[in-house]
Amino acid sequence: MRLLILSDVHSNLAALEAVLQDAGRWDVAISAGDVVGYGPNPEECVAKLMFKGFRCAKGNHDMAVYDGDSSWFNDDAQDAIKINRGQLSPGSMRWLGSQPTELRFMLAGLDIAVYHGSPTEPLTSYIYPQDAKERADSLLKHTGADVIILGHTHIPYTVKRKDKLIINPGSVGQPRDGDPRASYLVLETDQLTAELRRAEYSIDATAEAIDAVGLPHNFATRLYRGT
Ligand code: ZN
Repeated sequence: MRLLILSDVHSNLAALEAVLQDAGRWDVAISAGDVVGYGPNPEECVAKLMFKGFRCAKGNHDMAVYDGDSSWFNDDAQDAIKINRGQLSPGSMRWLGSQPTELRFMLAGLDIAVYHGSPTEPLTSYIYPQDAKERADSLLKHTGADVIILGHTHIPYTVKRKDKLIINPGSVGQPRDGDPRASYLVLETDQLTAELRRAEYSIDATAEAIDAVGLPHNFATRLYRGT
């Protein structure tokens, strides 16, 4: 089975479309949270994931856009959450609110666990690449999963331990590893191989839309830097 795995779309439709195009055929698609926030097209991004039948875990921005409590975000992120709230239809709001903070399922004999942040603090904790390497055994033991899928850091990585994996596909809509291309991952369950991939997209289109809907301008400029 071929799994399309992505995270942190952050309302960036141009980037999401580029990833869907670049990924080709897949059997199951998974999102590790933060479909909304930061970017200009939350409604279109939610609609796209719903239509494509993505299995989704909830991120901190999804939660804040859904319940309106953005007090724990910085000022710019709060502005984006307020603007995104005004852009979403009632149906998309309900869909956002219905995402679990732990998404767990069996697929091709693999026990797969998906969290935005970490298994113990799914909405708040960050697990960066070095941390994932050092804590791999305890994270796998703690969850009992064969594959742990994380997001939140916007930094892609894969860590393999025997026949188990901890992976983070990076961010589709706001990469922060210095590469501005949309980041995602393809997992082949047969050989248990995880391939980190990048898709080029029109940053200009997203940057112009960010300005047009009145989002903080630095959300546009950072996309060109990939930070
Ligand atoms: Zn994020």
